[in-house]
Order: sequence, then structure tokens, then C-alpha cells
Amino acid sequence: MNNNKNIFKILLFLFVILCSCSMAQALQIVYPKSPNTQINAESTFFVGNTKPGSVLTINEKPVKVFENGAFVEVVPLKDGFNRIVIDSKNETEHDIMTYIIKKESKAIQKSPEVNLVEFPANEYIYASVVKNNTPLRAQPDEYAQRITHLDSNTVLMINGKKGDYFRVALTPEKNVWVRAENVVCYSTINEKMFALVNDVSVSSDKLYEYIKTPLSFQVPFKVSETLTGLTLELYNIKNNPSDTKLFESDETIKSFAINNVSSENKSTYFIELQNKLWGYDVYYENNCLVLKIRKAPQIDTNSPLKGLTFLIDAGHGGSDYGAVGPTGIKEKDINLDISQKLKNTLEQKGANVIMTRTDDSDLGLYERVKIAKKSDALVLLSIHANSLKDGANPYEKHGTSVFFYNAEAAELSKTLRNTLTQDLGMRDDGVCKMSLVLTRPTMPLSVLIEVAYMINPDEYSLLIKDEFRQKTAESITKGLETYIIQAVKNSLISDKQ
Ligand SMILES: [Zn+2]
Repeated sequence: MNNNKNIFKILLFLFVILCSCSMAQALQIVYPKSPNTQINAESTFFVGNTKPGSVLTINEKPVKVFENGAFVEVVPLKDGFNRIVIDSKNETEHDIMTYIIKKESKAIQKSPEVNLVEFPANEYIYASVVKNNTPLRAQPDEYAQRITHLDSNTVLMINGKKGDYFRVALTPEKNVWVRAENVVCYSTINEKMFALVNDVSVSSDKLYEYIKTPLSFQVPFKVSETLTGLTLELYNIKNNPSDTKLFESDETIKSFAINNVSSENKSTYFIELQNKLWGYDVYYENNCLVLKIRKAPQIDTNSPLKGLTFLIDAGHGGSDYGAVGPTGIKEKDINLDISQKLKNTLEQKGANVIMTRTDDSDLGLYERVKIAKKSDALVLLSIHANSLKDGANPYEKHGTSVFFYNAEAAELSKTLRNTLTQDLGMRDDGVCKMSLVLTRPTMPLSVLIEVAYMINPDEYSLLIKDEFRQKTAESITKGLETYIIQAVKNSLISDKQ
């Protein structure tokens, strides 16, 4: 008899489980991604949706449910385990979900100090870069300032090591750092090796001016932007036969002089331009260093975008969703739709448009940069919708922002921000200088637009509307027109500067 009772109990239990599985739950949480997770921040947010009109509480605190059922709530976290109960109730359904979030105390998060290994004086490891776009940094830290980026096969002299980083001697006074995994070491040498330079030459084609420096091997270099042009420094140089040569000025270059190779074996190029900087790139063709400078565009002020080329990069794609909004729509799809609409509005103005992706495919950040480098585009626009990290408040930080890294893209960022906030009636979330893979290219002029926040319920409800995305595309097009007219007008660098 007892046995039968037990079997009945088990059947009833299975029945209840089956019923609850087949009944679709009204409450959906899109963030945090897992009910058991670790978040080391002062707070996190719960992003999700439930049946519109439901009464929602998180740890018994009432939470606003928006018209479309969306909700976003900031939940504070304490050290250790945080039990968070989300309760959604309406006339027919009652859903309860429990999340356990672990937060590590700051003391545990601190990583141990690593010692510097100093090589004996005048002893170097001769090494070479194995990955294009390898950054040299000011400190042995992945967040430290980037001094320059190097192509593969560039020869480096290493004189120390700290953690995952090698210390690189650029000059007797200047050391920088490179990630050990980005170089291959050959042998220890007792003297620095210096490169020989052949004749430096200047040439040009329809879009660019080229300064070419043939070398006996690839040396590290650094380009700095000045108010009137560019300065190029080449390290570990034995001689430069062009250092007394006078280069003729032309429609792009006003003056070009090379300093005598210094006692620290550095060769410095001073390039003054006729026009403001419209973009440049530096790279090796075998052992020849090429500095490629963009010429000022020729435009028709009545149709300023006509004949110009733009590269549009729809952020994320494929398995990389980007942010996910409260009702589950993904940022990658919103970005792609705005990008396609932008392509149409730009083409209607006579512009040529290239897209980094035209469908929902996976595309790495550096693959996008590769497309940008080959594109001959004047401007690169990366289109995104913003999100926040744990610890922030999506009701306080929201709106439209534009990111740039290089000074020559600052004015474009401001114009786009002004136009977008005006046309869309958005909060101004700022123009920010930020080192991002897609803001760092020095050619094309590169900006990244965060149209609005996926994680702010009001802005999310705009982003998912077709007509808002169309308006965004039209506003970006208008901003580009305004910028191009102004920038071409003010392009000439006056002598007063
Ligand atoms: Zn994004």
C-alpha cells in the first residue's frame, strides 16, 4: 500500500513538472545571462520582460513594468552570495525566479605584484614582431597607453621582462613594452643593431601622397599628429642619406624635412601639410616604410557627398549579439538595419557606400579594420546601440554618444552628435575620445556612433521602431553633409597657425 502511495506521489510530481514546462512562462530575464553567476560590481541590473500589466517585484521591491512589458532594475550587490527573487504576478499567472549572484570582495580581486627582470647592460634579445598591428605600450599592462602599432617582421631589441611583457629599447632613454606572445626571440646580442636607409622618395596618385623609406630591415616607428601635419620617428637607424635633401612642396605637402640622425639613432621627419589632415596610414611594403597621406577631397557644395566613399560598419553580427534589449531584440539586428537604411540615404545623395557586413555573419573587429584599410573610404562609421556595465544606472546614463580617437575625427564626431541629438530629440551622452579597435584607424576618418541605449526601456522602445531607425539614418546623412561642407571650406591650413 505504502509503495502504491509513493508511486502516486512520484507520478503527481512528474505531472506537475511536465505541466510547468509546457506552460510558457510570462517572466523572461535577458540579463544577467545565468541564474548562477559571478559579478564583481557594486550593483547589477535585471533586464527582461513580463506580461504587460503584471505586478513585478525584485526582492519584494516594486519594479516598473513598461507598456511593452519591458523592465530594467538596478539591484545592489554585497560581498559573498546575493539571493535575488524576481516575482511577477497577474490575474492568471504567477512566476517566481531566483538568481544567486556571487560578488568577490576587492581584496580577493587584487592580482599579485610581478617583478621586473632587468637584463645586463648592453645585452639585448634580438626579436621580431609576429602579428600585424601589435601595440607598443607605455607600461606592461593591457590598458596602458599605446605608443605605436607595428607590422609583423619589425625587429625589436629587448632589454627586460615583466610578467607577460617584454621591455623594448627604442632609444637609450625610451623604453616601451610589448606582449611576449606577439614577438619571436632569436638570440642574445651584446650590441644594438641599426638599420641603413636608402633614398627617401615622395610620389602621389589621385587620392594619396606617399613618402617611401627603403630600409635594410624593418625598424619600429612612431607617427605623431601636429597642428600643421605629421611627425614620423624611425628608431634604431644608422644613417639616412636624405637628411640634407630638400623636398619640393606640392598640392598636399607644404614642407618636408628630415633631421640628421640623432646620437640616439633616431631619424625624424617633419611634414607640414597644405590642408588639415584627412587621414594617413603607415605600413611596411617588404622593408620599405610607406607613409600614405590622404589628399583633401574635391566636392560640389550643392551635393557635398556626391562621389565620396563611405564605409559603414554594422556593429556585432552572427554569434556576437551585442546588447540584448528587455524584450529580447538583439543589438546586431538593429545596427544592421540602421546601416542598411544609411546606405540608402547616402546613395541617394550620390555617395559610394561599402559595408563591412550586409547580413547576419560573424566578422572580427580586425577583419573590419582590414576592410577599412583597403576601402579608400573617406569616413568609417561604426553603428552601435549602447549598453552599460554592471554598477551603472541605465536611467541616469542614456542618450546618443559619438566616439573617436584621432584628433582629425573630433570635429566630425561633434557635428554628428549635434545633428543626432537635435533631430532625434535624444539626451546628449557626449563626444568621447576612446581607444577602440574601430576608432583607432587613422584612415578613413573613424567614428563610432552609439545611437541610443538598448538597456534604457524608453530608448529601446524607439530603437525597435522602423521609423526611428530611418530618422537616424537621415540624420547621420545630414550630419555628414554639414561636416563635409564645413571641413572642405576650412581645410586650408593658414600660415597664422
Ligand atoms: Zn555594440
